[in-house]
Amino acid sequence: MKMIPISKPELHGKESVYLNHCIKTGWVSSLGHYISEFEQRFSEFIGQSYSLSCSNGTTALHLALLSLDIGEGDEVIVPSFTFIATVNSILYCRAKPIFADIDPVTWCLDPQDVAKKLSTRTKAILIVHLYGNPADMSALTRISEENGVYLIEDCAEALGASYKERYVGSFGHVSCHSFYGNKIITCGEGGMISTASEEISNRIKMLRDHGMSSRKRYLHEMLAYNYRMTNLQAALGLAQLQRIDDFLSRRQQIFNEYVKQLNDVSEIGLPFLGDIVRKPVNWMFTIVLKNGNRDALMEHLRKHGIDTRPVFYPCHKMPYIDANCILPITNSVSGAGISLPTFVGLKKQQIIYICDCIKKYFALLFD
Ligand SMILES: *Cc1c(COP(=O)(O)O)cnc(C)c1O
Repeated sequence: MKMIPISKPELHGKESVYLNHCIKTGWVSSLGHYISEFEQRFSEFIGQSYSLSCSNGTTALHLALLSLDIGEGDEVIVPSFTFIATVNSILYCRAKPIFADIDPVTWCLDPQDVAKKLSTRTKAILIVHLYGNPADMSALTRISEENGVYLIEDCAEALGASYKERYVGSFGHVSCHSFYGNKIITCGEGGMISTASEEISNRIKMLRDHGMSSRKRYLHEMLAYNYRMTNLQAALGLAQLQRIDDFLSRRQQIFNEYVKQLNDVSEIGLPFLGDIVRKPVNWMFTIVLKNGNRDALMEHLRKHGIDTRPVFYPCHKMPYIDANCILPITNSVSGAGISLPTFVGLKKQQIIYICDCIKKYFALLFD
C-alpha cells in the first residue's frame, strides 16, 4: 500500500532551473548570487533589516545565542515542549536552559510562568512559535524590556505566521528559521537568522565564517564556525520563497478542511484556530486525543496507509538533560498530541479519507 506521508516538499517552481544554473556556472559552494538574493528577499518578506543564511536551523539558533554573547553562567528561559534543537543550542553555549510551561491553547510559552522563572542570571528568553502558532508577543516583549533580557524567536515551524499583522521573526533581538525538508519552505537543509541590528548582523557574519575579518582575508579574529549556506541551498530557497504565499494559502485550505471534517469528533481536541491578534500557519495539523491510547490510533491509521507523528517528547525529560521542573501543561499535551499529514500537495479527497479513518476508529472503539 502506498502511504500518505506526514510531509512532502513541493518543488515544482523554479527550483530545478536555479539549481541547474548553479551547476552550469560552477557556483555550488558558499559563494554565489543566490545566497545574497535569498537573504535580501527573506528580509523583505518577514519585515526585518538583516537576514544571514546558514547551514540549518540548529546552527541558526547556535549563531543567534553566540551573537548575543550567551555563555557559561547564563540562563535562558525556554519551553520544554519543542524540538530538541532549541534546547541543544543553549547547551552548546554552556548556558543553562530554564524550562517554562506553555499556554494550553497555543502550546507556546506561558508569559506568567516565564515571569516566575526570571532570575539575576537570566540573559534571554528563547521563544518557540510551535506548530505554526505565534507566541504571545505583547506579553513576552514586555517581560524582555522590563527586565533587560534578550528576546530570541525560534520560527522554524511558523514562517508566515503573524501577531498583530506583523510576521513572527520581526519581534526578537534575533530570530531563527529552518528550511529543513518538512518546513514551510525548504532548502533541503538550511537556516536563517534575522535581526534589526547591524552590529549583531556583522557578528553573525564572522561567527558563521571562522571569525574571518571583514577587512583582511585569512585574519581570524575569534574562534568560530563554518556554518555557511551553499549557493545550491539558496537556489532552492529562493525558488521556494517566490511561492510562499501560495504555499500558505494552500496550507490554510488544508487546515479548514481538517477542521470541517473533525469538528464534531468529540474524542479529539482541535489545534488553535487563531484569533484577532494571532494568525497561525498550518505547519503540521496536530490534534490532541482527549483520553485513550494515542499509539493505538496511530497504529490504526498506519494500517490504513496514513503516516502520523507523535508531538515532541518534552526536552526536560531527555536522559542527558539535567532539569528538575514541574510542567503540567507540557506533560499533558506532549502525551496526547498527534500530527496528521500536512503538505501543499495533499488532496481534499485524502483529507476526507484520513478523517473517515479517524472517525471509524472511534466508532469501532465504542461499538
Ligand atoms: C526544525 C526545527 C529546528 C531545527 O531546524 P533544523 O534545520 O532541522 O536544524 C529548530 N527548532 C524547531 C522548533 C524546529 O521545528
